[in-house]
Order: sequence, then C-alpha cells, then structure tokens
Amino acid sequence: MHASEVVKCPQCGSDEIRATYTNGHDADRVVRQRRCLACQHRWYTAELAVSLAVVGWERKEPSGKSVPVLRVPVDLAVGSDAV
Ligand SMILES: [Zn+2]
Repeated sequence: MHASEVVKCPQCGSDEIRATYTNGHDADRVVRQRRCLACQHRWYTAELAVSLAVVGWERKEPSGKSVPVLRVPVDLAVGSDAV
C-alpha cells in the first residue's frame, strides 16, 4: 500500500479518509479500519497476497507507467494458491 493510493468512502465517495486502526504486522493479512471524515462512515479494508496468475499489467495515462491490476474479482483472486 502506497501513500499515493486513493481510497474513497463507499458511502459518500469522499477521499477524506483516515486509517484509524491497522494490525500492521501480519504481512499477508493486513486489515485496516477506515473512517470517512465527511460522513463518519466506518469500514474495513484488507490487503491480501494473491496468486501471480490473477495479476495483469495495465498502462496508466498520462504517465505511461505500467501498474499491476487484478484480472478477476477480488473474491476469486484470494484463494488457496495465494502466495
Ligand atoms: Zn463518507
């Protein structure tokens, strides 16, 4: 997870988000509680290891930089073959 990542509130779409809690140390199962400063909505996000097979590369405009993206829905990407 990088600082440049934009996380938006699923409730109101605001990007004024704070990560209020994180377990921080379980590298393959990072869970964060997030809070929206606009509507006070709270929810959780998780960072999981996924299989190499579900990752593709996509060119981002306007920088032309390639970034890794999921090629399948996230619930399919997280399986027993995850690294
Ligand atoms: Zn919100």
